[in-house]
Amino acid sequence: APRPHWLFGDQLGPHFLDPRHGGPDAQAPVVMVEARSVLRRRRFHRAKAHLVLSAMRHRAAELGDRVTYVKAETYAEGLEQALGRAGRGRRMTVCHPTSRAALDFVRALGGDGNANGNGNASARGDVGVDVLPARGFLVSHDDFAGWAGRGGGRSLRLEGFYRWVRERHGLLMDGGEPAGGRWNLDHDNREPPPRGRDTLDVEGPWQPHEDAVDDEVRRDLDRWERAGDIAFVGRDGPRRFPATRREALSALRRFVTHRLPDFGRYEDAMLAADPVMSHSLLSAPLNLGLLDPAECVERAEHAYRAGDAPLNSVEGFVRQIAGWREYVWHLYWHFGEDYRHRNVLRHTAPLPEWFLELDADAVTANCLSTVLAQVRDTGWTHHIPRLMVLGSRALQDGWDPAAVTDWFHRCFVDGYDWVMLPNVVGMSQYADGGLMTTKPYTSGGAYLHRMSDLCGACAYRPTDRTGEHACPYTAGYWSFLHRHRTRLAANPRTARAVHGLDRLTDLPALLDEAASRANTPP
Ligand code: FAD
Repeated sequence: APRPHWLFGDQLGPHFLDPRHGGPDAQAPVVMVEARSVLRRRRFHRAKAHLVLSAMRHRAAELGDRVTYVKAETYAEGLEQALGRAGRGRRMTVCHPTSRAALDFVRALGGDGNANGNGNASARGDVGVDVLPARGFLVSHDDFAGWAGRGGGRSLRLEGFYRWVRERHGLLMDGGEPAGGRWNLDHDNREPPPRGRDTLDVEGPWQPHEDAVDDEVRRDLDRWERAGDIAFVGRDGPRRFPATRREALSALRRFVTHRLPDFGRYEDAMLAADPVMSHSLLSAPLNLGLLDPAECVERAEHAYRAGDAPLNSVEGFVRQIAGWREYVWHLYWHFGEDYRHRNVLRHTAPLPEWFLELDADAVTANCLSTVLAQVRDTGWTHHIPRLMVLGSRALQDGWDPAAVTDWFHRCFVDGYDWVMLPNVVGMSQYADGGLMTTKPYTSGGAYLHRMSDLCGACAYRPTDRTGEHACPYTAGYWSFLHRHRTRLAANPRTARAVHGLDRLTDLPALLDEAASRANTPP
């Protein structure tokens, strides 16, 4: 008889049940566990809790009689119940989970932890689990280890990894050469937003219609909240992201057909009234496992080959998915468990209340208030607001990077442990001292002004370092450089900026004012 197969809530696409290439047994009965303790442990954005539960319950409805769907307090209890029904004492399979905690949990259940395991069932609920290879990524753990091990200990930068993935998977390649002759079209993809327009002139993203499953999820969330059982943050407006495979494919199709051509050009730009611009909004369905990255990049390449989308857009999109997403996934495992505690800049300030509560109205700085409202209302912003508005505020103000990571994890619809750790600890907070990036990502108000329409309506001025109109990003940038002067002077990529400090005659005043404002929302 086929071994039952356990599906986690981020393993929802058909590829997680494909028996080929070391997958679960053909026609394996499926077990899904909705564990309440997950929601109790962290105060998640309500739209995120809604999305994940809706997607799990939709998947269960599709699988029909094949699935045993258990609502329980913990995974362990849920499995006990499910296997009690599906047949006790049998071995089960699970695709490699996406977090260390979940991997440790399934390994502790018994079995020798690999695909061919014949270990004895453990005492805990008589469950023995065979962990199958990970799905939902282009590059396997073994292949990554091979790449990382090549050249022994050389730095693991994205660019080298990305080129290797392109060659190995034949993505956007003309023979042995990158399509168009260049690997990287980034410099075509950094345009400021078009002046005088408050939205991009592109078709809007795909939008779902809620159904009875969403209604039921919303009733459950209301009930748990009312009972004081579970607390959420943010607003659970109409669902914005795909919850089924069919919806995810519609979203992908709409993006590739109507929005991909403009993806590249304004990738880094921000418009207050158009938070999505030409971004794909595909991170949530990708991270739920509803889409496979291979099909996303293949469709994008097809649009390029058919002459329907320019290379800078297609290369930019392929770089995000086959480059960044894969890179982050593998770094999560490669860097090890203690990566989450890295804090080379020794930042220890707690997150302020207005930030924790997504209280956009308490904030005066227009960029931060606008972006915080986007997070509050949707659980999503694109990468530049995450990096250069939210992350940069945390970095400049010296907030504890582990607390910042937890905040992003809870508040973003696409946030999971694997994707948050490298993106926040490494990319955004530089808490790893440069394992992932060559310099900290932060800027003064001038960058935000150039790349957005957010400064015009602001009470602060991006050029002002001191005084009542001093921009918190401009003042914060110089305070940050000053605080870490020694380290940043020794880094060739930041040394020049540090020299700039010496020319600031108003630095003492700037530091005084910054200190006196430390406890008020910017
Ligand atoms: P697009 O701009 O359309 O990009 C296409 C796809 O590329 C995304 O859907 C995503 O799957 C992938 N991608 C691009 N960059 C990354 C990256 N750095 N890491 C992983 N995937 C990437 N992405 C998440 O999926 N989950 C997160 O929790 C998350 N947290 C982030 C936190 C910070 C501080 C920063 C700077 C970035 C974070 N990202 C995260 C990466 C990126 O911001 C989001 O993937 C992207 O904004 C999602 O919107 P989109 O689908 O419209 O992306």
